[in-house]
Amino acid sequence: MKRLFSCILLAALTACTSIPNYKVDSQTHRATAYNERVRFIVIHYTAGGDESSIRALTGPHVSTHYLITSRGEEPIYKLLPEAKRGWHAGISEFQGRTNLNDSSVGVEIVNPGYRVEGEERRFYPYTEDQILKVVHLLRDLSSRYKIDPTRIVGHSDIAPDRKHDPGPYFPWKRLYKRYGIGAWYDEATYSRHLNQEEYEALTVEEVQDLFRSYGYPMRVDGEWSEYNKKVVRAFQMHFRPAIYDGEMDLETYAIIRALNDKYVK
Ligand SMILES: [Zn+2]
Repeated sequence: MKRLFSCILLAALTACTSIPNYKVDSQTHRATAYNERVRFIVIHYTAGGDESSIRALTGPHVSTHYLITSRGEEPIYKLLPEAKRGWHAGISEFQGRTNLNDSSVGVEIVNPGYRVEGEERRFYPYTEDQILKVVHLLRDLSSRYKIDPTRIVGHSDIAPDRKHDPGPYFPWKRLYKRYGIGAWYDEATYSRHLNQEEYEALTVEEVQDLFRSYGYPMRVDGEWSEYNKKVVRAFQMHFRPAIYDGEMDLETYAIIRALNDKYVK
């Protein structure tokens, strides 16, 4: 009985303290200092077919903003508004930012990923339709959000110890050269740094620092760990896809150096 009474009393109090239905005026005063949630675009392959990719990306565990199937006649599917936070990047880091789901738009391309043959991973190419759809999307997104070219990245760039997508067949160079999308190094600067003496004069830490200052989640500790090799492999898949063995070499050095010269202030 006592308990019932206190419940009635509580309900009465709640009613008494309920607040008026205030209006929110969003027109009179407007802030001008803000930025967009979207600061990165992350490119993926789905490692599956059309139907299984659609099922997975509309299910309860993972999501992306855009999906490009293998069927050329189909539209680009928008699965999620850009203002929402998708679940496509997982544990990730680039340019000092972590958890890139918070600050990115995800673009998934249907592609089987890779098969393992002996020691080798064999990746699958993309169709021409898929690449043109990616170009269409990236043009639109990067101009609407004014995304820095170095922030159009692959999943492997931001999670090099876990991920291989979009793989070495994703045509980063063509995207830059033909469509002006994303980042690429200047040939002249690259050739200038293709200098064995210059490369050998650097400490391991200085080489690691070049990757980190560009944005890669490289550990700068003076040691070439397995983790750091994976970072180099991810970098090579993006910028030197002919050989992506994860071993540091003169060409890889000249590329990361030229990228630093061009994009890192
Ligand atoms: Zn991915």
